[in-house]
Amino acid sequence: MGSTRKERARNDSSRAEIAVVGGGVIGLAVANELLDRGYAVTLVDEAREGVASNAAAGMLAPFAEDDVGADALVPLMNASLEMYPGWVERIASADEVDLTSTGSLFVARDRDRLATLRHEARRRTEANADWLDRDALFELEPHLSPRALGGFRVARERAIDPRRLRAALARRFDALGGRRGDAGAGLVVRCCGAWTDPWVRPVRGQALLLSGAPLVQHVIRTPDVYLVPRRDGRLYVGATSDERGFDATASAGDTLELLREAFLVVPGIAELAIEAIVVGFRPATRDHLPVIGYVAPDTIVATGHYRNGVLLAPITARLVADLIDGDAVPALAPFDPARFKPNGGPA
Ligand SMILES: Cc1cc2nc3c(=O)[nH]c(=O)nc-3n(C[C@H](O)[C@H](O)[C@H](O)COP(=O)(O)OP(=O)(O)OC[C@H]3O[C@@H](n4cnc5c(N)ncnc54)[C@H](O)[C@@H]3O)c2cc1C
Repeated sequence: MGSTRKERARNDSSRAEIAVVGGGVIGLAVANELLDRGYAVTLVDEAREGVASNAAAGMLAPFAEDDVGADALVPLMNASLEMYPGWVERIASADEVDLTSTGSLFVARDRDRLATLRHEARRRTEANADWLDRDALFELEPHLSPRALGGFRVARERAIDPRRLRAALARRFDALGGRRGDAGAGLVVRCCGAWTDPWVRPVRGQALLLSGAPLVQHVIRTPDVYLVPRRDGRLYVGATSDERGFDATASAGDTLELLREAFLVVPGIAELAIEAIVVGFRPATRDHLPVIGYVAPDTIVATGHYRNGVLLAPITARLVADLIDGDAVPALAPFDPARFKPNGGPA
């Protein structure tokens, strides 16, 4: 029997050559993990407009996001959230990538939404969501709208600045001797986000970056908008979701909608400056679950992370590297590309 890739990788004279195509958070996380395991890695990154990792909020929020493909995805999201602090420590300081741990605050901004939110809080008991009455809510966040009536907090959720994370991963890749250029003849890992044909389609998202006096400490969520405070005082307001192909134009209507919803929950945002309007394309499969695995003997895809690619970066990197090492990876069964026909349709 021939040696496994892992054995070859550990033998310095014949280190396995792997090309990672795509330099978003997924590609860079995979490339770094492979370098750590002794592979020789070339990163192939072609610039695109609307890279998701540059537009993302960076919420590390399995509980907030557990509506999407919940059953299969929640264990993976939870495992990735647990990995995060240790993973970040390997890459950069928590400050450098703006890793915060204040938790998420779900807010009912009027009576209509209060009943829905109470129901949500009950549904999320496993997430240890603590219900907060109006006074408790304002004690935590005094700048909320006076109309806010109650809400709950999920303390375990975190947030990170995805742009800073991407930059830190790229710096580490270069520092560890990763190469950049064209793919060679070896194994290719395709992590091209929404451009990973034919596996995904782009789901466009627009968001705003505001700057000025810091107004909130927690990630604030309503069904219509979320606000993510950055350590440097900026406030991310996100995000829209629509399907109109790769149209990276920032829309006035989307900006209006985001500002209106943000204003209804934190009126003080009217005093802030608009620093940037960002648009990104979430890579989405038909079932909204990632697609990770071999699609040919020399090609792996790792994409389709849709709304949770930042959260899922550490676990994706680990599982892809396990696959390349030749290990059995049962955790990847729900995300096997074989569930789709080659044209991207359901198998
Ligand atoms: C508005 C918005 C908010 C979001 N909020 C969150 C959040 O709070 N939490 C969370 O976990 N996730 C969030 N996401 C989702 C997250 O951003 C994505 O799931 C994740 O960034 C996908 O990363 P990726 O590396 O697969 O793709 P991308 O970040 O899009 O990177 C793809 C890379 O591949 C390159 N590329 C493309 N084609 C080629 C090619 N042919 N050859 C070489 N290179 C190529 C591109 O230039 C790019 O560098 C959000 C997304 C959006 C749009």
